[in-house]
Amino acid sequence: DQPQPKKPAWIRVKAPSSEGYRQTRDIMREHRLSTVCEEAGCPNVGECWSQGHATMMIMGEICTRGCTFCNVATGRPDALDVFEPGRVADAVKKLGLNHVVITSVDRDDVDDGGAEHFAQTIRAVRRQAPGTTIEILTPDFLRCGPEALEVVVAAKPDVFNHNLETVPGLYTSVRPGARYFHSLRLLQRVKELDPAMFTKSGLMVGLGERREEVHQVMDDMRAAGVDFLTIGQYLQPSAKHHAVHDYVTPEAFAAYERTAYGKGFLMVSATPLTRSSYHAGDDFARLRAN
Ligand code: SF4
Ligand code: SF4
Repeated sequence: DQPQPKKPAWIRVKAPSSEGYRQTRDIMREHRLSTVCEEAGCPNVGECWSQGHATMMIMGEICTRGCTFCNVATGRPDALDVFEPGRVADAVKKLGLNHVVITSVDRDDVDDGGAEHFAQTIRAVRRQAPGTTIEILTPDFLRCGPEALEVVVAAKPDVFNHNLETVPGLYTSVRPGARYFHSLRLLQRVKELDPAMFTKSGLMVGLGERREEVHQVMDDMRAAGVDFLTIGQYLQPSAKHHAVHDYVTPEAFAAYERTAYGKGFLMVSATPLTRSSYHAGDDFARLRAN
């Protein structure tokens, strides 16, 4: 085991306590919904939930993959719950969200990877909360035919997000079971299928990647037509997970952000506590207002 670097002062997390936090938590419990905020042990949960931002995680709490950075349990998931899309839509309406982020575990056990379930969820939210913009953060549909992605895109989310997570050289240790160029191609196909749809991707840093590799990933994303980019510090959920290699300084994050804008991304968030859904709604609203 390598010694872990010490957590720096800029990774500061406030304990969740506000009334808004409790309201969001209660609505999620009442609708029996999982959130990535809790499952991933996200450091921003106090801030996001107090403002009514939450990322819903559909298709269960058990994932068929076992990425070494991720806190979600791996195993054999339950059957898909046909009533879940309706509950997500009800919760979005109750929370009065301007923007919702919907993500899922990976479902390699289901033929279409859960594509139809995703599409139904998008349509249910549109019906119940037509004023809410919808961002989805999808798995890679690696074991499915091309139709799976087409089904999801045809449901017309406003933003299609799929995270590359790390540089290609670290895939075998960080994201085993996934393929860098498959994920990149998935993002490119979304743009081909619907050029008006915004695409988004994200990276964690502090896993041992080099700066030049991050810049190369930015170039790859731009070549695939990706519009929005998030970069955040990897934090180790437990001692069993991939070790933190280093804490990237706020200055280095700011440099990534400048470089990314220089490469033509429309929206970039690169800070230590950036997560792919952090302030996603505010950023998107700002973009649409411009
Ligand atoms: Fe949830 Fe995303 Fe906020 Fe984290 S950053 S608490 S995952 S909405
Ligand atoms: Fe976690 Fe997603 Fe990997 Fe599953 S596919 S282990 S939910 S990061």
